[in-house]
Amino acid sequence: MLLDTFGRQAVDLRVSLTDRCNLRCTYCMPEEGLQWLAKPDLLTDEEIVRLVTVAVRDLGVREVRFTGGEPLLRPGLVAVVAACSELEPRPELSLTTNGIGLARTATALREAGLDRVNVSLDTLDPEVFHTLTRRHRHQDVLDGLAAAEAAGLAPVKLNAVLMRGVNDHEAADLLAWCLERGYELRFIEQMPLDAQHGWDRSSMVTATEILDLLRARFTLTPEPSARGAAPAERWLVDGGPGRVGVIASVTRPFCRACDRTRLTADGQVRNCLFATGETDLRTALRSGADDAELAALWRAAMWGKKAGAGIDDPEFLQPERPMSAIGG
Ligand code: SAM
Ligand code: SF4
Repeated sequence: MLLDTFGRQAVDLRVSLTDRCNLRCTYCMPEEGLQWLAKPDLLTDEEIVRLVTVAVRDLGVREVRFTGGEPLLRPGLVAVVAACSELEPRPELSLTTNGIGLARTATALREAGLDRVNVSLDTLDPEVFHTLTRRHRHQDVLDGLAAAEAAGLAPVKLNAVLMRGVNDHEAADLLAWCLERGYELRFIEQMPLDAQHGWDRSSMVTATEILDLLRARFTLTPEPSARGAAPAERWLVDGGPGRVGVIASVTRPFCRACDRTRLTADGQVRNCLFATGETDLRTALRSGADDAELAALWRAAMWGKKAGAGIDDPEFLQPERPMSAIGG
């Protein structure tokens, strides 16, 4: 099992399939993009499947989420999902995506064994979408959402980040739009994980503000079921069954219940989004390590997990890698 010294067990694995992206969300990447990882440094599809196999079969991982960068840009995605769906015990398989290209691949992904999808969409307005992502791809995301629903990747979940003065006026509209379609919306507080290091606490829209914006139109009641390790606090909207979640990583961190472990596209294990160190599984794997040795390295990486991300700590250091290179 993947345990740490605070008694937590990691059962939820985030696998980044690429650091590249076809959008340039202002809270994530600079306009010119980043220095992408070189192809030989990326794990191959087979290497990814091997490491996921070790995690699921030997280390107690029960849920695998593919992310990036933009995971739909990875040519082998469907094959990787299919291979992971054959594992015993069968893990839950999900995908976090910006939705571009999902219209073409949703059915194949579903058939390969994908269980769920989270699509990121911050606005209903194509112009605001361009301001936020620097690309004119709003319709592609809407088409991707519709395709995910049609393919049975339900319930479709939406992730939204609010930026002050850009899209925060849309909070209630986004929720109304999702409720109409049966999509589950989760707002994510903006975190200090952008490559440009432009995050500033005073301009971040906090969970409290998000809830106030929603309460101006809806009645929110805390969802009775326990939050468990889920990062989102959830509310029933107008008595239910519609719900909304808020992931308040900055103002209400959930580190004490964290059950995550992360694998980057270049084969590094991270025990936290905000970790400043990594454990190199790729070099071990390519030097001939067997599964037991890889599992031992992964266990040791998680054992060293800190109590919390420490964003509020005056000593807090933003990790060197941005979110897009870690896997969000
Ligand atoms: N490209 C995919 C997408 O956008 O869904 C997957 C990777 S992206 C890094 C994963 C999630 O992280 C997205 O929902 C995105 O909105 C969110 N995200 C990116 N940068 C963020 C930041 N600085 N703070 C909070 N969330 C962020
Ligand atoms: Fe790309 Fe996702 Fe980052 Fe936006 S948030 S730039 S879609 S990786």
